[in-house]
Amino acid sequence: VWKNCLDFIKDNIQPQAFKTWFEPIKPVKLSENALSIQVPSKFFYEWLEEHYVKLLKVALTKELGETAKLVYIIKMENTYGNREPFTEKIPSANRGNFGAQEMDVPIKSKNPELKNPFVIPGIRNIKIESQLNPNYNFENFLEGDANRLARSAGMAVANKPGGTSFNPLLVFGGVGLGKTHLAHAIGVEIKDKYPERTVLYISAEKFTQQYIESVKKNTRNDFIHFYQLIDVLIIDDVQFLSGKSGTQDVFFHIFNHLHQNGKQVILTSDKAPVDMQDIEQRLLSRFKWGLSAELQNPDYETRISILKNKLYRDGVEMPDDIIEYVAKHIKTNIRELEGAIISLIAQSSFNKKEVTLELAQQVVEKFVKNTKREVSIDYIQKVVSDYFEMDVATLQSKTRKRHIVQARQLAMFFAKKFTKASLASIGSQIGKRDHATVLHACKTVDNLAETDKQFRKYIDDLTKKFS
Ligand code: ADP
Ligand code: MG
Repeated sequence: VWKNCLDFIKDNIQPQAFKTWFEPIKPVKLSENALSIQVPSKFFYEWLEEHYVKLLKVALTKELGETAKLVYIIKMENTYGNREPFTEKIPSANRGNFGAQEMDVPIKSKNPELKNPFVIPGIRNIKIESQLNPNYNFENFLEGDANRLARSAGMAVANKPGGTSFNPLLVFGGVGLGKTHLAHAIGVEIKDKYPERTVLYISAEKFTQQYIESVKKNTRNDFIHFYQLIDVLIIDDVQFLSGKSGTQDVFFHIFNHLHQNGKQVILTSDKAPVDMQDIEQRLLSRFKWGLSAELQNPDYETRISILKNKLYRDGVEMPDDIIEYVAKHIKTNIRELEGAIISLIAQSSFNKKEVTLELAQQVVEKFVKNTKREVSIDYIQKVVSDYFEMDVATLQSKTRKRHIVQARQLAMFFAKKFTKASLASIGSQIGKRDHATVLHACKTVDNLAETDKQFRKYIDDLTKKFS
């Protein structure tokens, strides 16, 4: 069929044009009235659409009749758009084949004629795989005080992608608190509600790799154009972009294009925008256009329901006192909570033992040991004040007395080092300072540690108290 089409086309255009635009096309598949052809790039596709669509239409109709359809497949070697194994950790029980749904996605063409489906029926389809993990959905993203805002903002975005003021939606929070899960859930929900929209989930790391690759291969424009095709772009762990000015630059352009066209952008980060370092100001200010929603540590009740839900989905029964024990002792993040329960299930089935409280204690102990004990900012202030023989109120006071300033700076330094709190939140807890003051304190302490022996000793003494 394609050969006949080509013969027809050849007779109707310049030989050079034929060589450039038709020889590189590979016919891929013919099913009933639809012919799939593979083209080397998105540029190529656009060019065909703009210049040769009528010719293609005529050629195809001659071969396949009035209902003929053409599906473009854009080829981009091992980079964007290709099927790749999904790398995020997934719930053990639901391991399966996912993350690579193929969708025929109609895209808009610049050619106004093409907007009218009666003129060129169905002649513009392009495939982009969403890379979404269907196991990460809203249904199993349990709600609690710690995630209520982020979760409901996510749902609002999923209901009306690009149509809320939450654009971009930035979800931030510490490790294992559900950023990736929520990001997928939004994408999965959108795909469900709006199957025709192009959704793409990608980690900032992979985005960066693709970008670097495209620069090497001289396909930077293809890279940009590919991303500009997307209706809902989800980029996970954007803190990874810090210090990478080339990638930030290209992301800035893509972001602007998508935003201007009413497309939805969803980002996750382990820090609030004010705490992101080495991210260009112009990007940070874009992040603030939308909504930043934090995922915090889940409370005890939520931890219980997350555990119960997990056990239920895995079809495992476990006594309440064991669940309560685990929920009580593993507080820092959900990934660990799940890890502990998985480990318990594994141990019990491996040793054919009942899960006893004793076994739970052993497992939990291992998990708690492996995680750095999280000290609170209050505790840090107390220890530092004690060490310098002052009270906490003095440490927090506005005084400029050198030894008090130093104590305060040390408290900020340790809060940064030993807690997951943001600079802004450290500042507000240590005498209502702003994040810049905390940043300055951390730098000062770093400097003094190198130049001042006595100061070095303070740091060493205090460090021992926290580890
Ligand atoms: P992050 O990306 O913030 O590091 P993840 O999204 O990978 O965290 O979440 C870690 C684990 O915790 C995942 O297995 C995820 O399914 C689970 N999880 C996170 N939040 C919730 C929630 N609200 N309800 C149920 N499971 C959750
Ligand atoms: Mg993650």
